[in-house]
Amino acid sequence: GMPSTPLKPLAVRRKSRQIMVGSVAVGGDAPVSVQSMTTTLTSDVNATLQQIAELTASGCQIVRVACPSQDDADALATIARKSQIPVIADIHFQPKYVFAAIDAGCAAVRVNPGNIRQFDDKVKEIAKAASEAGVPIRIGVNAGSLDRRLLEKYGKATPEALVESALWECSLFEEHGFRDIKISVKHNDPVVMIAAYRLLAQQCDYPLHLGVTEAGPAFQGTIKSAVAFGALLSEGIGDTIRVSLSAPPAEEIKVGNQILESLNLRQRGLEIVSCPSCGRAQVDVYKLAEEVTAGLEGMEVPLRVAVMGCVVNGPGEAREADLGVASGNGKGQIFVKGEVIKTVPESKIVETLIEEALKLAEQMQDE
Ligand code: SF4
Repeated sequence: GMPSTPLKPLAVRRKSRQIMVGSVAVGGDAPVSVQSMTTTLTSDVNATLQQIAELTASGCQIVRVACPSQDDADALATIARKSQIPVIADIHFQPKYVFAAIDAGCAAVRVNPGNIRQFDDKVKEIAKAASEAGVPIRIGVNAGSLDRRLLEKYGKATPEALVESALWECSLFEEHGFRDIKISVKHNDPVVMIAAYRLLAQQCDYPLHLGVTEAGPAFQGTIKSAVAFGALLSEGIGDTIRVSLSAPPAEEIKVGNQILESLNLRQRGLEIVSCPSCGRAQVDVYKLAEEVTAGLEGMEVPLRVAVMGCVVNGPGEAREADLGVASGNGKGQIFVKGEVIKTVPESKIVETLIEEALKLAEQMQDE
C-alpha cells in the first residue's frame, strides 16, 4: 500500500452532526469533501454524465446539477443512477422539482431560502418525503438572492442577515422534526463570507458547505476561495467545499483538492517544491518546474520533488525532498532521499527526474 504519514491539521474540527450525501459522509469526523457543479444542460443527459465522469476522474466527490425545468427534472433519474458519485439537485423555485429529485434518487437536494418563501406551506411535505427517502437538504443562502424581508431588515447581505436567513429556514424544517441538513451562506466577498460562517458555526451544529459565490475567473476565484476556505478550515470550520470559478468545473476540483492538501486535511499527492528563481539562478527554473510538473502529472503517490535554481538553497531543499535537483554550471545534481545519486547535464535534468520519480513511485507502491 501507499505510505501515509498521519495528517496534522491546524485546528480541532468544529463538532458537527454527520449527514450522508449518498455514500459520502459530510460532517462529524468525515474528511472534508470536495464538490462541484455541472455546467451542461441537465436535460442533456449524455453531456451531463460525460462531465460528471470527468469530474469524478479529477477527484470530485459530490456533484450538483441545476434543475430549472421539467426537462431537467425528467433527466435526474438517469443521471442519479449512472453517476459514480452522489448527485445533488439544485432547486430554486419549484417545490414540485424537489419531490421529483427525491423520487429520482438524488442523494440530496439544495434549496434556496430567499427563493422559496412560497415553500412555506410545502415544507411539511418536503420534510416528510426527504426523511422517508433518507435524503438530506442543503439550505443554500446566497447573498445575491437573499430573502427580501432580511434585506429590508439589515439593509444588505450582512453576515447576520445571511445567518438569520439560513437558521430561519432550518427552523421551518425543524418544526417537522427534520434535521438532516447542511448549510451554506455564500457571499462574493471573502471577508463577509468568513464572518458569516464563523457566526453560523457558533449557532448550530449542522455541517457546513463552504463557498465563495461568484468568485470570478480562475485566478481571482482561486485566491478568494483559498483565502476564505483557508481562514475557516484552519479554525476547524467547514465540512465540504465548493470552489466557484468561471472556468471548467474540473478546475474547481483541482483547486479544492489543493486547498485541502495545503492544510493537511487530505494526504498530499505529488508536490513540486520549486524556488521562485532569483539573480543567482543558473538555469531557467520556471521552464524546468513546468516541464517536471507536466512530466509527472497524474502521478498519485505522495512525492515531494524539489526543483532549485542554484546551489545556495538548492542542495538543502533537494535533500529535504524525496527527489530533487540543484542546478549550477550547466549541470544538475540529482538527489534521491537526501543523497546525490548523480550529476547530469542540464538537458538531461527533466528526463532524469521523471525516471527517478517513477522508480520511487514503484518502490512506494511495493512497500
Ligand atoms: Fe535563487 Fe538559488 Fe534560491 Fe532559486 S535556489 S531562489 S536561484 S538562491
